Amino acid sequence: MRRRRRKGAREGVGGREEAHPVDGRVSWELKRQPAYAPRSHRMQLKTILNRLEKHKSFVYDSMTLDESGEEPRLLIRIKPRRGSRPVCSGCGKRGPGNGHGEEREFEYLPLWGLGVFFVYWMRRVNCRRCGVRVEQVPWGVGKHRQTRKYQWYLAKWAQRLSWQVVADVFGTSWQSVSAAVRMAVEWGLNHREMTGITAIGIDEIAWRKGHRYVTLVYQINEECKRLLYVGENRSEESLRGFFRGLSEEVKGGIRFVCSDMWQPYLKVIGEQIGQAVHVLDRFHIMTHFSKAVDEVRASESRDLKRSGTAPVLKHTRWCLLKRPENLTESQSVRLRELVQLNLRTVRAYLLKEDFQWFWEYRSPTVAMRFLDEWCGKVMRSRLEPMKRVARMLRHHQPLIRNWFVARGTISGGVVEGFNNKAKLTTKKAYGFRELKTLEIALYHQLGNLPEPEFTHRFR
Ligand SMILES: [Zn+2]
Repeated sequence: MRRRRRKGAREGVGGREEAHPVDGRVSWELKRQPAYAPRSHRMQLKTILNRLEKHKSFVYDSMTLDESGEEPRLLIRIKPRRGSRPVCSGCGKRGPGNGHGEEREFEYLPLWGLGVFFVYWMRRVNCRRCGVRVEQVPWGVGKHRQTRKYQWYLAKWAQRLSWQVVADVFGTSWQSVSAAVRMAVEWGLNHREMTGITAIGIDEIAWRKGHRYVTLVYQINEECKRLLYVGENRSEESLRGFFRGLSEEVKGGIRFVCSDMWQPYLKVIGEQIGQAVHVLDRFHIMTHFSKAVDEVRASESRDLKRSGTAPVLKHTRWCLLKRPENLTESQSVRLRELVQLNLRTVRAYLLKEDFQWFWEYRSPTVAMRFLDEWCGKVMRSRLEPMKRVARMLRHHQPLIRNWFVARGTISGGVVEGFNNKAKLTTKKAYGFRELKTLEIALYHQLGNLPEPEFTHRFR
């Protein structure tokens, strides 16, 4: 008799709580379980889940394998802990419940090749401040289909693979991956520390056709290198946006700033951080040289074609732009052949290579004497693009001299390294029609943003 009653208590379904007929314990939870799952197994899985993801006001109810759809799924039902009151999604405060809304599924980290979903009946809150609202649940983010943890998981993968590949691999959409990355970036930006910033680099990259630019500001301290800011265009306003976001203390702590010779940047740097040593960056200066050599080559190539001379400049572009030590065997041969010819392009190239010596000097005084001589040589060369570079260098002499002052403090190749990575990020992402999306991708790749503790498991 006693035995039958116990069995009945276990198999019953329904909500009312009942004291256990034998020892008086509450058996509400037991009664809700489907009869085929042995109790010990249920407890083990629940224990694991409770270790991984425990929420104070909720309990895991049951787990089932749903085989009704195309792919089997693991469904984990969640219910509110007894007596707990729902949290308002408007203001984040608890309020009295007001019945149930819809049942929602939240995608969790996949397991054993199965999709895993939390299933939960959303409650409504009768909030004093916001009126009747749907409750906010701790594992979810707004209306997103994914749980917060799954979003972090996707975001982690999106750092290594393109968003589309991540979407394909995990059977979700590009939009879901993008939303996950956005969540991660927003969290990171809200939690990052803006301390220890004594050296910054300012750079611009083109994105989309039609000369649209973004201004990027990096921290380039030896011990911490990261993207700090993304601004639309490359105007004075684009850069002022960065300084507006800084406290006076952080602004006053900046001792070195690297940038290009772009006039709007020069102006804002002067007005915002006059105390900092302003360095014209080696990478940016050499970019001007490459552009000039390329211009000479293109125009001479056109002239030769017009006059019917053999096309000696064909396929020489990379020989002329790369540093000699980076050339392939056949490019070296090609370059040696070229140098035999008295071409404008070759003279421009030799002037550019000659200038590389400038960076090797230890003493700024000697270096500046070299610069002066070099500029004189170029001004007599009748190579207009090169003369433009020389004029620009002469004009900015004090800032170029600062390169020698700052040497050793800021690592030289950082701005170039960031520039390459930023370009790669821009190129990889076909979906970046919108500036906001590009901004998020750049922060995600280069921002070195903090993450919550639990994401360390996802590596
Ligand atoms: Zn509220």
